[in-house]
Amino acid sequence: MAYITSANRMLIGGELVNAKSSDFHESLNPANEEVIGLTPAADQRDVDMAVEAAERAWPIWWEKAPVERARAMRNFAQRIAERGEEILRVEVADTGNTIVPTRNDITVTVNALNYFAGLAYELKGATVPGAGNALHLSTHEPYGIVARITPFNHPLMFSVARTAAALVSGNAVIVKPPETSPLSAMILAEIAQKTLPAGIFNIVTGTGPQVGDAIVRHPKIKRIAFIGSANTGRAIQRAAAEAGVKHVSLELGGKNPLIAFADADPSKVADLAVRGMNFGWQGQSCGSTSRLLLHADIFDATVELIRSMVSRIKIGDPLDPETGMGPMNSRMQLERTLGFISDAKQAGANLITGGGQPKGDIFKRGYWVEPTVFSDVPTSARLWRDEVFGPVLSIVRWTDDEEALRLANDNELGLTAGIVTNDIGKAMRMSKRLRTGYIWINTIGSHYTGVPFGGMKGSGIGREESIEEMFSYTETKSINIQF
Ligand code: NAD
Repeated sequence: MAYITSANRMLIGGELVNAKSSDFHESLNPANEEVIGLTPAADQRDVDMAVEAAERAWPIWWEKAPVERARAMRNFAQRIAERGEEILRVEVADTGNTIVPTRNDITVTVNALNYFAGLAYELKGATVPGAGNALHLSTHEPYGIVARITPFNHPLMFSVARTAAALVSGNAVIVKPPETSPLSAMILAEIAQKTLPAGIFNIVTGTGPQVGDAIVRHPKIKRIAFIGSANTGRAIQRAAAEAGVKHVSLELGGKNPLIAFADADPSKVADLAVRGMNFGWQGQSCGSTSRLLLHADIFDATVELIRSMVSRIKIGDPLDPETGMGPMNSRMQLERTLGFISDAKQAGANLITGGGQPKGDIFKRGYWVEPTVFSDVPTSARLWRDEVFGPVLSIVRWTDDEEALRLANDNELGLTAGIVTNDIGKAMRMSKRLRTGYIWINTIGSHYTGVPFGGMKGSGIGREESIEEMFSYTETKSINIQF
């Protein structure tokens, strides 16, 4: 079924435009590989135009009273909510994410715009005491132009919710949507055109090497906010450093541990382990707790419960509310996931469920893989060490708290972690020593408005979803007065 068949347009300087190249990229429905939309194939020339438009627009936006910026953002949120069902269906068709959890992306997007709109008057600086008749002030000023480069797993949410902080602090933004799932941004372009001043919100579609790199290297863009893979994050840091002095924030991958202690109820652990995998997004979530560390005392009972739950997940049409798992986002993601599964089998991991591609007519086209669980995964195996970004859970057993902590921390990435125990003292001591930026105790997966999210170690730099994110889009200016 085709949802969007016509050519779409980007948003630059308040105009819906085609790319200078006049070319388009096809967007495929990952469930059946049908072309469901076209997006402009932009290049350096389009990026230059977006920068010029943003440069004209941001000083006027910043001069506005904070309440006015907040009002425009709330209006933007309202219009997104009004077209929420339409956006949702396009997002599901374009990403392969299932419809029920994806509905939450619209809610999060609307909430983030309203939350940051509400922080408009918190862009406060400080006064610092001085000697005699002196006063020292610090103020926060916008960078001016902020670029936001987004990954494929939550395109709308990352393109809007993660630009709200930059907008409220007086910046103009340039958003580059992901190449495999850019279609929701086309609806966004129409909404932003009607609700925000021209040039404040620009969308430029195209590939990472063409559009993304041109954005990163542009001399007038000093602030770059990236969500994506660790390799691309490092490439962006390199390119940014070659091009100038830039502030780059990075939200990268995760290989996140969930640690279950001996006193935890196996049914609660199994529930958290399955929810923590985000199978509704085919495991394609940076926060997925894809490494489960089970205490030996609860190992067998918990593994059996997980097997039973995961083997019952219904794979199929992501638009069907009954579906628990859709297709992978792209052929590349599918092949990557199958590669990890094959490596794990060769490494001697114990396949508990899944491990192949589903059978049946509807799976003959599209990027399908079964939800998969391995236990007793060798800790040297690639599956234990590297982010799959797919629906593959690895389980190991442990007996000693120090061993669990060592296993959990023994990874280059450090985004999230989970702990399950009835002993809150133990959980807090473990939390203090875990080198991850976000921890759940006896819960899993949720993000909370205002609570900083981001990674330690190789998982990133900076924190988002909180007041810290807002200040990260500003530069501090100090003014010293003698009177
Ligand atoms: P990716 O790194 O391949 O691509 C992300 C974006 O970067 C895309 O828009 C792409 O076009 C662009 N890009 C690619 N090469 C570029 C270059 N050289 N210069 C500039 N831009 C370039 O990531 P992906 O496959 O879309 O997303 C999956 C990854 O994102 C996973 O590793 C996942 O963990 C991570 N992720 C992290 C978070 C977080 O909050 N920490 C959230 C979601 C996803």
